[in-house]
This record gives sequence, C-alpha cells and structure tokens, in this order.
Amino acid sequence: MKGHGVILFPMPFQGHINPMFQLANILHAKGFSITIIHTQFNSPNPSNYPHFRFYSIPDGLSENHAVPSDLNHIVTLLTTLNSNCVTSFRDCLAKLLSVNLEDHIACLITDALWHFTQAVADGLKLPRIVLRTSNVSSFLVFTYMPFLCEKGYLSAQDSQAENQVPELPQLKFKDIVMFERGDLGRLRQFIAIVVQETKASSGIIWNSYEDLEQEHLTKCSLYFSIPVFPIGPFHKCFPASSSSLLPQDQSCISWLDKQAPNSVIYVSFGSVAAINETEFLEIAWGLANSNQPFLWVVRPRLVHGSEWLELLPNGFLEMVGERAYIVKWAPQQEVLAHPSTGGFWTHCGWNSTLESLCEGVPMICRPSFAGPGRIMQVCKPCFGELGLPSGIQVGRGEIERAIRRLNGGEAEGQEMRSESCD
Ligand code: UDP
Repeated sequence: MKGHGVILFPMPFQGHINPMFQLANILHAKGFSITIIHTQFNSPNPSNYPHFRFYSIPDGLSENHAVPSDLNHIVTLLTTLNSNCVTSFRDCLAKLLSVNLEDHIACLITDALWHFTQAVADGLKLPRIVLRTSNVSSFLVFTYMPFLCEKGYLSAQDSQAENQVPELPQLKFKDIVMFERGDLGRLRQFIAIVVQETKASSGIIWNSYEDLEQEHLTKCSLYFSIPVFPIGPFHKCFPASSSSLLPQDQSCISWLDKQAPNSVIYVSFGSVAAINETEFLEIAWGLANSNQPFLWVVRPRLVHGSEWLELLPNGFLEMVGERAYIVKWAPQQEVLAHPSTGGFWTHCGWNSTLESLCEGVPMICRPSFAGPGRIMQVCKPCFGELGLPSGIQVGRGEIERAIRRLNGGEAEGQEMRSESCD
C-alpha cells in the first residue's frame, strides 16, 4: 500500500536546520516518509537520520564559504543561494516526483526564505507549505516593511528608540532597529519576495504556539489568507542535538553539575551573530566582575579576525578560575534544562528564546541583526527580561548590573522565574 511522503528543504543555517529537522521528525512520527533535499553548504549528517532519505544539490558556493557575520553578508548569501539553486533544486524535485512510486508525495515544505521554490512547486503542481522558523510577530514586521521604509522609520535616531511607531503602536522604534544597519534596498527587496511567495503558498507552519502569539497569529491569518499552523515548540518533541553542525561540548554539563542551583549565567549568541573586539572584552569583564559563575559559548571566529580566546587579557582565565567555563559550542537545550542554570544572556534567536521560555530560564535579551526584533515584547508577559540595547556598545558595568539583577538579587530573578506562562 502506498504511504504519504513529504519533501523538505531546509535553509542551511543552524537556526533554520534545527526546526526543519524537528518538524521532519514530528511528521515521521505521524507516519509520513521523509525526504530531505539539502545544499552542499552546511549539509546535514545523514547518518544521524537513517529513517530519512537525503538528496544533496549543488549550490554554487565555494567549498570553504565563510559563514556570514553581518546583515549585508546574510542578504547577499540568501540572494545568491536563491538564484544558484533554482535549476539544481527543480531537477532534483522533478526527478523525485517522477521516480518516487513508493509514496504519494503530499507536499513540499521549504523554509520561508527559499522564496524561489514557490514557482518551482507551482510548475510541478505540488503544494508548497512554508516553514517560518522565527516568531509570528517578527514576520508581521516584514509585512510592514514597505510602510516603514516609506515613512523613513527604518533609519530612526537612537533617541527615538523607546517611542512607539505612531501608526503601529504595538511597535517601538527599538524593535525595528535590526533593519538599520544593512543595505536597505536589497534587504527590502528580499523581504518583499519572501512575503509575496509565502502569500502564494498553501500554508504556513510556525514553530510557535497560540498562547504565546495569539494576537499576531490572528493578524497573520488575515494578512496571508492561507491556513496557519502554530504547532511549536518543536524542540519539546525532538531535541536539536542531532542536527547540530558543530560538535556540542558535553563537558560543560559535568561542570554545571558542580554549581549551585540557579546560580549560573549561560551566555550564547547563537550560530551567526558576530561581535567586535571591544564588545568581546566588555562582555568578558562584565561576566568576571559580576562574581557569578558563567558558562560562555565563544564560537570560533565569534570575533572578527580572531580564532578563539586569544583576545582575552593575560591572566583572565586564571582570575575567573573555576567560576567560568568556556566552550566552542554547547548542548544548549541540556544547559537550559539544567537546575544550575539561573539565567540566559541571549542574542534572541527564536530557537534560543523558545528553548529558554520552555525551561523557565529568565533572559537578558540583546537582540542582534539575526534575531527577531520584537522578541523582547514577546518574552515580557511570560517571563521577566532584562533588555540590553541592540546595536549600541554595552559597557561592562551595565552587563555586570544586568547579571546581578538576574542572578544575584534574590527577589527579581526569583520573580522572573516564577512568572512562567504555563
Ligand atoms: N545552539 C547549540 N549550542 C550552542 C548555541 C546554540 O546547540 O552553543 C543551538 C540552539 O539550541 C538553537 C540554535 O543553535 O537551537 C540557534 O538558533 P537561534 O535561532 O537561537 O539562533 P541563530 O543561530 O539562528 O542566530
């Protein structure tokens, strides 16, 4: 008897690969056969998924393509991928549809950022469902882009940060700050195509849930007029460890085991965001001066032009001693679920935010270009959050105070933890 199959096409970045593979596992558990088409760049490890079929397509990128570190690079890479993969993806999909007799292919599921796939799916008469790996409210900001550009709000001054956008009172200027630093024209064009091709799709799957984003989901349904499926958080069904592109350093769990409950501040800025040398040193000193234990993920090349920890001042590691643990990449979900973890300083990537929300870990939020700018307001009603300004150099004193408020101050951290949405 024929079964049902789906073909999935993840965007090759960690924060997009994780939810796509989690979704694939969820669908597999519901009885669907799973076929993954993937780029050579950041390709997944098929041996972690013996129950899926994998097809690699050429993406036209050079072998050692650098992971982008700022908004301009990201837009360039996304645009390049979307044009480079058209032919190889179409050929691969057409072949799969013509030879795959075992299962009836019900649909194609692609990341929203693979906008060209809508035309390919239409050409092959295959329904395409979009997976949007970020939160609903940040996608709504995408739909406001033409309006925000027209009004000149995207280059608002820092002094306006706390003000509400007059025509969209639910939005503050600081929530849209992420758009400020890129090549606006290209970014705007890319976002417009993503929104348009999402509108043309057969439905949107969100790694989010109604209780968290009800108001925005309603707006989204009205705007897109297609079915929306807020079926997250995916990681509660399947963890992200098997789709990790970097090896997760498990030794930090043994270190966490030795720390007091709720005492450790976990610091990670996800897989893409980069910082400069001054920021790196301010973070290091802020963490050291807070006197709290900290687990810090310093990805190789997190700081432009440096390999790993060589920018730390001489004697820094000896000074912080056992109170600090630094890894290149952590088993984040396990870290957040660990009883010693008392706070998370995050760049506000959506996966990180959801993972933290679900474990009841209060956050110090510092949105970066890669993070959805509206997250802070999403977190607020659910958990306390401490916001550090985005795009502005934050000093060690401010960092130290934020950590102390979260972890050291008895009352505030406790209150934030107890204000969970469940
Ligand atoms: N992650 C991890 N180890 C780390 C840091 C992050 O496994 O040391 C995972 C994290 O659990 C999340 C993903 O990488 O699932 C990062 O996605 P997110 O949306 O938070 O940020 P992005 O990397 O897309 O900026």
